[in-house]
Amino acid sequence: MKTVKDYIRTIPDFPHEGIMFRDVTTLFSDPRGFRMAIDQLLHPYAGERIDRVVGLEARGFILGGAIAHQLSVGFVPVRKKGKLPGKTIAQSYTLEYGEATVEIHDDALQPGEKVLIVDDLLATGGTCEAGIKLVEKLGAEVVGCAFIVDLPELGGRKLLESLGMKVHMLCE
Ligand code: IMP
Repeated sequence: MKTVKDYIRTIPDFPHEGIMFRDVTTLFSDPRGFRMAIDQLLHPYAGERIDRVVGLEARGFILGGAIAHQLSVGFVPVRKKGKLPGKTIAQSYTLEYGEATVEIHDDALQPGEKVLIVDDLLATGGTCEAGIKLVEKLGAEVVGCAFIVDLPELGGRKLLESLGMKVHMLCE
């Protein structure tokens, strides 16, 4: 039987030479694979209160939308700077070369709400850490961070766990 990992392909030298890009579009496009991924991402949270799903741009929107629909809760995007139309709060984080900023609408979450953060892949954890900070700045609580793929050598899981996060991924 195929596992989630079997549906993911690797594209060498994308977006730069020497990078092995883990491409989840082949997982998303397969009806069995996509269903399996959503079910497995939700499995650890069975019976747990989740009020909103926060997706990190861009593939986290695809996963987050499906998960929010499955839970019958709302979906909230964390987007790259300048993309959200309403009033936002921002969080910057460091990349290998330089800095990036993500934003969330300042009225997207209410204090005390329980939030699940989702994205396709965890590498250094910088993007997710910025997402966590945005959620917490709005007074909401992150109950978990869920990913399809972890690149363990880049340390993201350790970083998020050091912040007290419950972290869950489907494959390495
Ligand atoms: P981090 O902030 O270093 O953890 O990087 C994670 C972010 O980069 C996520 O939003 C991913 O979508 C993206 N990313 C980095 N490498 C890959 C890859 O190989 N495949 C898909 N997304 C990637």
